[in-house]
Amino acid sequence: MQVATTVEGMRRLRSQAVGRTVGFVPTMGYLHEGHLSLVRRARAENDVVVASIFVNPTQFGPTEDFEKYPRDPQRDLALLQQERTDIVFMPSAVEMYPEGFATHIDVGGVTEVLEGAHRPGHFRGVATVVLNLFNIVQPTRAYFGQKDAQQLVVIRKMVNDLKLNVEVVPCPTVRETGGLAMSSRNVFLSPDERRAALILFRALSLSERLWRTGERDAGKLRDRLQGLVAREPLASVDYISVAHPETLQELESMDGPTLVSLAIRIGETRLIDNLTVGEKRPSPVLAELGVAAR
Ligand code: AMP
Repeated sequence: MQVATTVEGMRRLRSQAVGRTVGFVPTMGYLHEGHLSLVRRARAENDVVVASIFVNPTQFGPTEDFEKYPRDPQRDLALLQQERTDIVFMPSAVEMYPEGFATHIDVGGVTEVLEGAHRPGHFRGVATVVLNLFNIVQPTRAYFGQKDAQQLVVIRKMVNDLKLNVEVVPCPTVRETGGLAMSSRNVFLSPDERRAALILFRALSLSERLWRTGERDAGKLRDRLQGLVAREPLASVDYISVAHPETLQELESMDGPTLVSLAIRIGETRLIDNLTVGEKRPSPVLAELGVAAR
């Protein structure tokens, strides 16, 4: 495994892979099984696997947790090596944003709601860094988790609108036993908060159950989810959304696949999770956890 910390170094390593397929997994590090599932998929589908570790300052708001975002690069490198990653790109912030950096990517429409509405500038930072990374790494395929459903929609829109020559591959959310979606931020949760955080998965499971029993009124679903989350004293709601999975517009009635997404604060920690109900094939993850059977 080779590690590049500069743009020039990464470009040099990339130039040695001409003619081979390159699978790319961008991350902010502090890796868990969710990240590693993306790396494994990239390993299975490409000749060369590149992962990046970069805690991107521009996607954090001024009051957000950039400084205290968890970091453990040595452990990350060991995990990536175990997964047979070929190249790790680990640039510094000045390497990515040198003095005078002034170009930003604004994806319209789909960035205005949900995370975009609650975290102004977040997707501008995400799109700008991802396009930069794509230009440096020049991947054949790039792997993103469905855990960040809106991010996937935004990246796909950017790739489509700017005619980028990369295939975006969505990967299912990896969960802990009990259903909590893996996240680098879970490390901030106390044991009580970790228990309380299961409310997100319970809400998604309830959505799945209500859909299966014929509920199609999006307003009623939102109310049921609000009611459920309100019963967890450590949880406070940023948003509960029942929206179209591509436009991300809130729905009145659920006539087809529907994205249920949640942003919930458990104490100081803000967690997001989502599930698409109404897909032809039921979510294997929920099925495995026995949700379908209830
Ligand atoms: P992050 O380091 O949080 O920026 O995440 C890097 C990539 O890993 C993104 O594409 C995330 O959507 C994905 N990811 C994060 N958590 C999970 C998870 N629990 N399951 C699957 N993918 C995930």
